[in-house]
Amino acid sequence: MAIMVLGGAGYIGSHMVDWLLDYGEEPVVVDNLVTGHRAAVNPKAKFYEGDVADKDFMRRVFKENPDVDAVIHFAAYSLVGESMGKPLKYFDNNVTGLIRLLEVMKEVGVKRLVFSSSAATYGIPDHMPIKETDPQNPINPYGESKLIMEKIMKWADEAYGIKYVALRYFNVAGAKPDGSIGEDHNPETHLMPIILQVAEGKRDKLQVYGDDYDTPDGTNIRDYVHPFDLAAAHMLAVKYLREGHDSDAFNLGSATGFSNLEMLKAAREVTGKEIPAEIAGRRGGDPDSLVAASDKARKVLGWKPEYDDVHKIIETAWAWHSTHPNGYDDQK
Ligand code: NAD
Repeated sequence: MAIMVLGGAGYIGSHMVDWLLDYGEEPVVVDNLVTGHRAAVNPKAKFYEGDVADKDFMRRVFKENPDVDAVIHFAAYSLVGESMGKPLKYFDNNVTGLIRLLEVMKEVGVKRLVFSSSAATYGIPDHMPIKETDPQNPINPYGESKLIMEKIMKWADEAYGIKYVALRYFNVAGAKPDGSIGEDHNPETHLMPIILQVAEGKRDKLQVYGDDYDTPDGTNIRDYVHPFDLAAAHMLAVKYLREGHDSDAFNLGSATGFSNLEMLKAAREVTGKEIPAEIAGRRGGDPDSLVAASDKARKVLGWKPEYDDVHKIIETAWAWHSTHPNGYDDQK
């Protein structure tokens, strides 16, 4: 059986593809390269360049790969800030893309879908850690698009029996430990790559947005998870669906929170660099803390994250950033 990976040239998707090949699976990659990189895709994987919302293209990919029995769907826009100014761009690519995909999956009879959802679907939680059953009230169009997509999958399951697992990731950080693939977003908005860009001298200093949050050191607390641990969870989710279980949603995080200042300290320890930083004003829409209760994924899927220490995660990210200061441009 083969697994289709949509968005497999992106940051998390490229780790998924690499991981699948390592475990003897056969990934079929689809990506329109709008934010992804061809060089991020392991050359052993079959690659199709095109858009998930292009039904004729997707029909062809399914037709040429009749062994595909499950789809892992990473393809989306995911910049929270940009989504505030361009909500329709997000609903168009993320939501319409999913509708078109489900239409084609229904036609070709592929009935298993593992989906990248997000902690952003919870909005501002009133307690920690966040459970899957907690209210989902997104505070930006990106998170809203992911919540709408979860709901669309629920109704597509009811009507057409397309079973899904929605995986709600918290903050993803880290890279393949040999430094050959990693995170390369433009613009970069995630804390870990930004800290490491300061370490390598690409940025002057880190701006820490706010030190007056309701947390022990006043800076935001987040829960970090490595892309290979996510990859393992996606494969377990495919297995869970292949075993005939019902659709469900799972948080994926480490269940341990780290503040921005703790991440900075850990990055200084790992890199041995000074990493200048200053406290700046708060940005809108940052919840004090976001920490996942991920015992459901551990119990039901049997997930055991290996990168359970942020130092380990940062070491892998540094292996990538220190050898690719210009991301995949350094590989051309
Ligand atoms: P990314 O931008 O690196 O990867 C997305 C990939 O999808 C890119 O390669 C892009 O070219 C492709 N793509 C986008 N729209 C497409 C379309 N219409 N057709 C074909 N390909 C398309 O993002 P990422 O950080 O790897 O995130 C992957 C998924 O995980 C996204 O759905 C994101 O919302 C979700 N997520 C990410 C994080 C995180 O911390 N990075 C956290 C929670 C959820």
